[in-house]
Amino acid sequence: MKPWWERFPGRLEFELDELREQGIEVRQDEKAFAAGSVILELWFPTDEGEVVHLTAHYPDTYPYTRFEVKAPDLALGRHMGVFEKNLCLLGQATDNWNTNSTLFRVLEKELSTVLMTGRSDDIEAVRHLEENQADPESVYYTPQKDTIILIDGAWAIDSRKEQGEFTVGIAKNSTSLIRGAVLEIRDETGESLIPSNQVFESYYPERLQGRWVRVDSLPRKHNALEFLEELSIQHPALKKARWNNNVKGGAVDLIGVLFPEELDYRKKSDSWLFIVRAQSPSFGIGKEIGYFARTGRAGQTDLSARVPEVASITSRKVAVVGLGGVGWPAALELARNGVGELRVLDHDVVEPGTTVRWGFGFTAVGRHKTAVIREFINSNYPYTNVIDFDHRLGSGLNPAGLDSTILSELFDGVELMYDASAEVGIQHLLSDLATEFGIPYICASTRQGAWGGEVARIHPARTAGCWNCLQESFADGTIPTPPGDPAGMLQPAGCASPTFTGTSFDIQEVSLFAIRLAMSALTEGVADGYPKADWDVGILSLRTTKEELAAPRWDTFVLTKHPKCPCKNKVP
Ligand SMILES: [Zn+2]
Repeated sequence: MKPWWERFPGRLEFELDELREQGIEVRQDEKAFAAGSVILELWFPTDEGEVVHLTAHYPDTYPYTRFEVKAPDLALGRHMGVFEKNLCLLGQATDNWNTNSTLFRVLEKELSTVLMTGRSDDIEAVRHLEENQADPESVYYTPQKDTIILIDGAWAIDSRKEQGEFTVGIAKNSTSLIRGAVLEIRDETGESLIPSNQVFESYYPERLQGRWVRVDSLPRKHNALEFLEELSIQHPALKKARWNNNVKGGAVDLIGVLFPEELDYRKKSDSWLFIVRAQSPSFGIGKEIGYFARTGRAGQTDLSARVPEVASITSRKVAVVGLGGVGWPAALELARNGVGELRVLDHDVVEPGTTVRWGFGFTAVGRHKTAVIREFINSNYPYTNVIDFDHRLGSGLNPAGLDSTILSELFDGVELMYDASAEVGIQHLLSDLATEFGIPYICASTRQGAWGGEVARIHPARTAGCWNCLQESFADGTIPTPPGDPAGMLQPAGCASPTFTGTSFDIQEVSLFAIRLAMSALTEGVADGYPKADWDVGILSLRTTKEELAAPRWDTFVLTKHPKCPCKNKVP
């Protein structure tokens, strides 16, 4: 790629001329230019009569993305990088930059405001002049790649506690690059401030000990060893490393720094920065290195912060029956969004041919679907408890009593039944049982070729009709049957029964809609929950002919009691 000033001839000259026409002293860094980058040094006068020494750094990708402007002689409390001293003239997102703008225009419009708000502690005076977002300083302490130490953002350390020790868990056979979690925090007398964390422990069983201190502000050192050097002035005990933690190929010394950080707009709370000193023959005899480890917030409330509408499902129990093309996405979505307990039932084994529309590929081949789903969720979503039933429901060959026992365990205390069995007999059974247990029932299935599909909800308090009413409604056309490919059946070699053709990305259209319906039912009555549905049945049409691709179309229907169905109208 040619440099930007050649791709956009005249652009650089225009920017320089514009500055000079305004009487601004500007110099181009010739050495940087020879090395392929544009850096300008300038002295910019503000309306307030201040002349600010600045350097402007243009990226290779200019003008698609904007320049950075540094103020090396200033120390602003906000809107300035701690080490680079770059100013927050425009918001981080690229849409804050207009490609037709210039350095002069940005400085003229923004510099005075940034200086004023950056120096002000008067929130009322500046609230309307700046983005109302937190400016956390730990982001400037670049963490070592492949490291993280997890905490729970909900932890609160007694503000009178100044120092102590803490336990970090790591995986077995870990090296000096620490990926782990804080398991316990103690004060200097050994009294526990944060009790041991069992969720983190299950992931990180190997224990390391570290020391922590509370400070009012972080040392302004970007190098971790220099950071510790400066920290040791206040806390001399930290000067000398403690090599009591052995890891693969060496030893580590862990230091936690508790400090006030802006986690909400202009509001500080306790935050953690972790420093690791490491020793290894591979670094050289007696040589130590130091690095900042990334801090990760992994408490249950940290994980649901991005999905507030469904945050309440952390205390809910859901059963998913059938882990085929429609069922597996539901199991994963429920776990991903933090459902408290997930019960899954399926009898099937992952065949190589089914991996084209399943959640996992060849690592799962030959294994039972329930086990694969349980193991994946257990190792990735710590707050979801999975109970799996590897069982085929409804077989006359099952020992007497087994189905009854399993169904009792499956339904006991569950708050929603998600039926992706795609078996008419099983749907009928599970929908009746859900009604008996008084819980919402949701079923989802696709049609041949995955040209269409249906989702239905039978809600004990909202849906007048039953599963059989739905079948009668399909039969007489009051609810239309979803489209299917007339040639969309196939019996793959070695398969006991025929199956539908159809791709995973078409089938998942059905799963996703059913999951929305499930989330709606699970958060019903919760303030600011997922939206309510005033319909019960969704019919999907992805296409009606082989040739034409249409936008997915969902039609929704209220499921009323069908006159031909002998059921009692549940909702008057
Ligand atoms: Zn009915």
